[in-house]
Amino acid sequence: MTDPNCIFCKIAAGHIPSFKVFEDDVVFAFLDIGPLVTGHTLVIPKAHYPTVMETPPEVLSAINARIPALSRAVLAATGAKACHVLVNNGSEAMQSVDHLHYHILPRKPGDSFRIPWNAGTLDKASGSSLAESIKSELAR
Ligand code: AMP
Ligand code: ZN
Repeated sequence: MTDPNCIFCKIAAGHIPSFKVFEDDVVFAFLDIGPLVTGHTLVIPKAHYPTVMETPPEVLSAINARIPALSRAVLAATGAKACHVLVNNGSEAMQSVDHLHYHILPRKPGDSFRIPWNAGTLDKASGSSLAESIKSELAR
């Protein structure tokens, strides 16, 4: 379950150096080499899955089980009280490395990091129609 051309597979295997902060049988966590904020940390499965859409639930469970302690440790080490935990899935969603990774991004008051959050509106007709579409996809 590794991809010989994948940089995160190589990092998880120890073939490429990283600032590792945690490792167990399933999960590997290390500092992002291009931090958006101080403490920017990546949490990955050791096995190669491109996005959450292909990742088995038990692997996602193992990652998620580690997220609280990892997030607390990153916050304590950086003196932050808040963080984003986010996953980019697919190039349109700004994913650049095709090996699933959770970003932990600590936030502090007055920091310069911004996520454009241009909220739209959801009207009754399109909300209802969209919810029905998603429900019927789930029922397939
Ligand atoms: P994404 O855009 O969600 O795919 O994020 C990929 C992240 O991987 C970026 O934040 C990069 O800075 C980070 N990254 C790429 N190569 C390395 C590396 N060798 N070590 C640590 N982080 C890396
Ligand atoms: Zn990989």
